[in-house]
Amino acid sequence: MAEIKGGIGVEIEHIFPVIKKWLYSEKEIFLREIVSNASDAVTKLRRLISLGDDSARDIPDEGFRIDVVLDRDEKTLTVTDNGIGMTREEVEKYICQIALSGALDFIEKYEGEGESKNGIIGHFGLGFYSAFMVADTVDVLTRSYTGAPAVKWTCDEQGSYVISDDTADAPERGTSIVMHLGDEGEEYLNSAKTRAILDKYCAFMPCDIYFDDGEEKGEDYAPSPVNDTTPLWLKNPSECTDEDYKSFYRKVFNDYKEPLFWIHIKADYPLNFRGILYFPKINTEFESLEGQVKLYYNQVFVADNIKEVIPEYLLMLKGVLDCPELPLNVSRSYLQNNGYVTKISNHITKKVADKLTSMFNLDREGYEAQWKDIKTFVEYGCLRDPKFYSKVENAVIFEKCDGSFTTLDEYLESAKEKHENKVYYATDKVSQTGYISMFEKDGIEVILLPHLIDTQFIQLLESKKEGVSFVRVDAELAESMKGEGAEEIPAVLELFKAIVPEATEIKFESLKDESLPAVLNVSEDSRRMEDMMRMYAGMGQEMPSFPAQQTLILNSASPVIRSLEGKEPEKASVVAKQIYNLCLLTQGRMTKDSLKEFLSDSYGILSLI
Ligand code: ADP
Repeated sequence: MAEIKGGIGVEIEHIFPVIKKWLYSEKEIFLREIVSNASDAVTKLRRLISLGDDSARDIPDEGFRIDVVLDRDEKTLTVTDNGIGMTREEVEKYICQIALSGALDFIEKYEGEGESKNGIIGHFGLGFYSAFMVADTVDVLTRSYTGAPAVKWTCDEQGSYVISDDTADAPERGTSIVMHLGDEGEEYLNSAKTRAILDKYCAFMPCDIYFDDGEEKGEDYAPSPVNDTTPLWLKNPSECTDEDYKSFYRKVFNDYKEPLFWIHIKADYPLNFRGILYFPKINTEFESLEGQVKLYYNQVFVADNIKEVIPEYLLMLKGVLDCPELPLNVSRSYLQNNGYVTKISNHITKKVADKLTSMFNLDREGYEAQWKDIKTFVEYGCLRDPKFYSKVENAVIFEKCDGSFTTLDEYLESAKEKHENKVYYATDKVSQTGYISMFEKDGIEVILLPHLIDTQFIQLLESKKEGVSFVRVDAELAESMKGEGAEEIPAVLELFKAIVPEATEIKFESLKDESLPAVLNVSEDSRRMEDMMRMYAGMGQEMPSFPAQQTLILNSASPVIRSLEGKEPEKASVVAKQIYNLCLLTQGRMTKDSLKEFLSDSYGILSLI
């Protein structure tokens, strides 16, 4: 039979150089594309067998496989399948026309994406022609399951191809794609590298894949597939044991720490996606959290942590999602506005929220034990997604300074009499211990909000729960701590006025706790402002500083304060200064100078005893 020569058309001059220069870091996807075509070819044949296709009738539905073979001498990487194969007409149609126009569309969109080369688009298929990212010449040797004669198609990097019947090396049935690796593809002669790419992209493809690295093997070498064709996410949750989930987690994420719990999602029509999401053990601030959600398309790995598909806060989790309905070959902006993607996101959000609320409702103790690990995730999710907030709102709990837990509603209910709608909190159990014990002595519960994210979270709660405010223990005194008959003692007021900075307000209260001479409060609003400024400054932004609104409360019921009135002025001043400095110390607001002064004053006082 005569050879047919051809050129892939005018566009070829345009397309091949672009493919060659394809984003360097994404080059490795060529193998995924070629192996997944092979896997599709097997799936198609199996389907024809199951449909009772005439030519497929006698083919047994077993023994399907894909072989990836490295030949360092020939500098080739070959992917062979025993799937459906192609006839000559099909090669012309699928390889020369359809695959090419698909690749052209892809390149066009890729170029349209401008600078965002590292975008999502590179994660999706360029298809068969991606082989030219690594190969100078590509041979397709194929024999259709129909029994039509085998054909060989060879194409060089200029895009000229030859179709011939030089098919001595063609498989008995199916297709061999022989990639003659050029300079750009030489690195894939390294078997560890190629194996790692198979592990990354093909670990769960639905057809057995064997890798032959071209090395001599011992006699008892028994090759085994590099992939698992029935990944856990495809199974029915009722058929999976805890150990199945844990070992899948270890294998996929190489994480030796056990996950806290997991959610197995099976969304049927119309969403039609599967996945398992794990809550890893996390106990830190959100900045340092990095999860890993792997996205698959029909068991073919696409990429990790695709923000356009997975809600951002879920990226703190670890897991796998298989979305066969995902629109491929599309740009990032398209995905961002895609209705299907939004629905997936919403569905996952709902499942995660359902899991958390059912844990909270069914096993409160167990939930509390895990709260530290999931707290940041829940808070971050609430901040990011109002829908998530409204779904988990009732399962949000707070740790109290005494180590027990409460929901916001429980807290408000028990505080109703004493301090309605006010939640007292501490951010640091150690440095704020003076204030915490003042509140606890008065029977007021204090919750602990130690993380940066808590500040934003309570602002969210304040905006959602009308009338509720969060007040740090060093911001104000609860009304219930104050007794009757506060009395202003003018001489004492004058004494403190001389010591305390002018901007600080001085007030007298009669506190029930007589052992306390004075308390320094910094208003909640001004402290929050200060915290915010500090955060911005930490991020390198210059910010104006606002003086904090401070109030010094002198306890007219305290014998120490009362005694100042009749004291010798010099001594009275030393005591007042000491009281004020102790207040500053408790507030954590000592400067270098005030600390120095406080120390030398203290030593001076010691020498008098
Ligand atoms: P896609 O796989 O997205 O359709 P490709 O460019 O990868 O696009 O491939 C184009 C077409 O070439 C496929 O749809 C298929 O018909 C054919 N093809 C590619 N590889 C094989 C193969 N190993 N066996 C049979 N047909 C193949």
